[in-house]
Amino acid sequence: MQNRLFIGGEFVDSVAGGRIEVINPHDCSVITEIAEGRGEDVDVAVAAAHAAFPAWRRTAAAERGRLLLKLADEIEARREEFAQLESLDTGHPIRDARMLDVPRTAACFRYFGGIADKLQGDVIPVDPGFLNYVQREPLGVVGQIVPWNFPLMFCSWKMGPALAAGNTVVLKPSELTPLSTLRLAELMREVGFPAGTVNIVPGYGHSAGDRLARHPDVSKIAFTGSTAVGRQIVESSAGNLKRVQLELGGKGANIVFDDAVIPAAVNGSAFAIFHNQGQACIAGSRLILHEKIAEEFLEKFIALARSIRIGNPLDPATEMGPLTSPLHRDRVLSYVKVAMDEGGEVLLGGTIPDDSSLAKGCYVTPTVVRAHSDARVCREEVFGPFVTVATFADDDEAIAIANSTDYGLGGGLWTQHLGRAHRVADAIRSGMVWVNSYKRVSPGSPFGGTGMSGYGREMGFEAMREYTEAKSVWINVDAQLPAWYPR
Ligand code: NAD
Repeated sequence: MQNRLFIGGEFVDSVAGGRIEVINPHDCSVITEIAEGRGEDVDVAVAAAHAAFPAWRRTAAAERGRLLLKLADEIEARREEFAQLESLDTGHPIRDARMLDVPRTAACFRYFGGIADKLQGDVIPVDPGFLNYVQREPLGVVGQIVPWNFPLMFCSWKMGPALAAGNTVVLKPSELTPLSTLRLAELMREVGFPAGTVNIVPGYGHSAGDRLARHPDVSKIAFTGSTAVGRQIVESSAGNLKRVQLELGGKGANIVFDDAVIPAAVNGSAFAIFHNQGQACIAGSRLILHEKIAEEFLEKFIALARSIRIGNPLDPATEMGPLTSPLHRDRVLSYVKVAMDEGGEVLLGGTIPDDSSLAKGCYVTPTVVRAHSDARVCREEVFGPFVTVATFADDDEAIAIANSTDYGLGGGLWTQHLGRAHRVADAIRSGMVWVNSYKRVSPGSPFGGTGMSGYGREMGFEAMREYTEAKSVWINVDAQLPAWYPR
């Protein structure tokens, strides 16, 4: 297990000398200690990335792509190792880590490896006598700050397009879940990424993260995390007017119409909220049910939620593991009281599991709460296995409830009516909408939000554009044409 900072192609100790304990959320035991990167370490990492930029930028795009493709292959070849590490550190059920986290990470690096040399410029039809072309140029050193809920996968979402486009990277993983990122750094070195193109500085947000967001030599900060920290990042970035990309919180609406295929909607809605213990920005955390099918749906949904196997994430039978930290478990549980204080009714869960073998871990049972759509639990992101239920009478009311939060990241709807599917998808204010499914993602499809869920898009060509800027070049191709008044 790598436990030091990765800077300039080497694993190094923190110049400031701090340490962070990494906790196993299954029983809160200490897995290992890692070096804590602070501001001074970020300065060294940015300097290394700065030094590596000119050569990386001039490296043929196809060669940058080749390294990313090779990395994807090597991750796949180590699927089990990465799955175990991610599961141990985050609490993701091992079967999710094997089937989703690791394959999606490899797929994302592969996608960006494939399009590295396919980002083309434009030729613009301008006045006769001139040729105007627009080329996409990398930004320089980009800072990337990621949260703890999908640490490995988010490395690929962020580093894939940044590196493909010719930028160099300083990435700060969450202080809670640095292990798979450090292992990835080691693999990137083996694969042949030149020293300094990728630098990893685990550390706390208020020190390492803040320094990265403020750094004058960083051209862009790409942040995934909470809306509150996103706001701070915008302020910290103002010094050198660096670009900012924000993937923030969500409060996904999941609407079930009375013409939905109920078993599919029940299954999909359970995945929408309980996958990864609900720790997903796009989680379908608000069930919005047509009043005609609400009771039937809830009965089946609660039966399914009750049957979810909670346990040690390393057990292949486990369907729901622990939340990632004790602090977060307590925060999620505190929302039960918040709901009840505002007249909410707990239909299921809201507790820690009975099983004594899980008592030391960060476990929370699947929780279903009936609440008014103005209640705090329907407006604030809980980020746990906690879903609210509201009902509606017609399409307009469903849309109004769906749009009643300040967030706008993901949302879903279940219906067999084609026209309704398109109409409601159009009316939901969010960056992504799923019809008769939930939480689908693909490296080619833009991912991001609106409103308090942030701005900018990851994945797809959109992401390549976000990691480059347009340079417009004017060529006077007519030697006779005066540049100013004829003399
Ligand atoms: P967080 O905002 O507390 O932390 C995210 C990262 O920012 C961490 O690495 C943290 O160390 C760092 N950080 C904290 N304070 C900082 C500061 N002042 N300056 C710079 N960096 C700082 O979020 P979290 O609790 O780690 O993650 C959960 C949140 O992330 C949820 O709100 C969730 O919705 C959001 N999220 C969003 C997306 C998306 O794509 N929209 C994806 C996953 C998670």
